[in-house]
Amino acid sequence: MSPSTQSIESAVGKIVEASSKSREEVQRMIDEKKSRFSGLLTESGAAFMIAKELGVNLDFDSGTETKVAGLKEGTDNVDVLARVMHVFSPKSFEKNGKKGLLCNLLVADDSGEVRLTLWHHDVAKLWEQKVERGDILLLKNCSVSTYNEKKQLSLNYGGQFILNKKKNAAFPEPNTAVLKVKELKAGIDNADVFGKIARVFDERSFEREGRNGKLLSFELADETAVARCTAWNDLVEEAKKLRQGMLVKIEGAYTKDGLRGVELQLGWQARILQNPRGFELDTVVSGAERKEIAKLEEGETIEVKAKIKEILPGKLHYLVCPNCSKKVEQIGEGYVCEQCGEVEEPNINLIVAVELQDKSGSMRCVFFGKQAETLIEKSREEMKKELEEKGPDALIEEIKEKVVGREATVEARVKKGLGGEKELVARSIQFKQ
Ligand SMILES: [Zn+2]
Repeated sequence: MSPSTQSIESAVGKIVEASSKSREEVQRMIDEKKSRFSGLLTESGAAFMIAKELGVNLDFDSGTETKVAGLKEGTDNVDVLARVMHVFSPKSFEKNGKKGLLCNLLVADDSGEVRLTLWHHDVAKLWEQKVERGDILLLKNCSVSTYNEKKQLSLNYGGQFILNKKKNAAFPEPNTAVLKVKELKAGIDNADVFGKIARVFDERSFEREGRNGKLLSFELADETAVARCTAWNDLVEEAKKLRQGMLVKIEGAYTKDGLRGVELQLGWQARILQNPRGFELDTVVSGAERKEIAKLEEGETIEVKAKIKEILPGKLHYLVCPNCSKKVEQIGEGYVCEQCGEVEEPNINLIVAVELQDKSGSMRCVFFGKQAETLIEKSREEMKKELEEKGPDALIEEIKEKVVGREATVEARVKKGLGGEKELVARSIQFKQ
């Protein structure tokens, strides 16, 4: 008798004992449950459900874990203790109109390595508990299947993972150190970096070889340098949650030379972890020199420490293509994007102009998109709604109340404005706490 058959037998036995139902009855309930879930439920998963419905406490803890090398296709209801070697990008998918989430991991013990697939709330738990490479997971109640001719471990219904409850020094260690931004050079595969989000750009979509893709770039700073990072495709949803000032650990990225130095690329092997355990960072470099407003020169990117003196009048938005985020032209009743053609329903992009003042002087500064959202502490969606309801003038009054008089550190590029005078285009803003 295999261990899994044995434990299902003992589960059925426990249910019979505790529920005053006959063995045949319990088996029939398990079979019915399995057929209701059309083969998606394992024998032990069904037994667990029945036990739960009947109020029977099934303790599957055998106290012994199966070694990775001993896992075979069809193995069911085993516990595995293993170290997290890699966490891949989580993937969202849709099946029969329902949305789901899955995440693949590589885990290993001293006998071998296996792919672990987590689903739905277990993926959320992975993030909530900030599971990282190097952590040890006790995987309770797993089954083994085969995918693309490779063994794949997953948790059964009623199964769970427990973080760092047991240690095992004999397990292999993932061979990645967390790098400083300055240590990044082109050609690194599988890099881990910790830092603070310095700036987030807008999402962009593209088409390559007939397939649609999307990307989102951001800047990551630590005490040594600033690096441009780009999240691709599946990871864009995660990257969209990033805000300036957040502490993040990036795992599994690769590097390559970009226009402004080495860039970090986050592909399907990478992940972003917010506020990771055990990391601290006090000061980060901003990448731009601090200057007084009166001394600014056209073309340079600088940082000013200034007070927001005034919000300047304007429409607070312009219309953009929902597909490529470029500005659209209104022609008659319709809208046209230079790149995509006619646009049915344009999206909006925020634009807020302010006057910044330090002790040396003052200058107009324009905030676009994400920077505008950070400045006024409202999302584009909120503003779209409020612009329709109240119009820009009333909103400017509200923004004035919230923002005028506040001190902030603003990173910006100096350019020539429409009237020939110098003006700033904000790249990031951080309010004085
Ligand atoms: Zn477009």
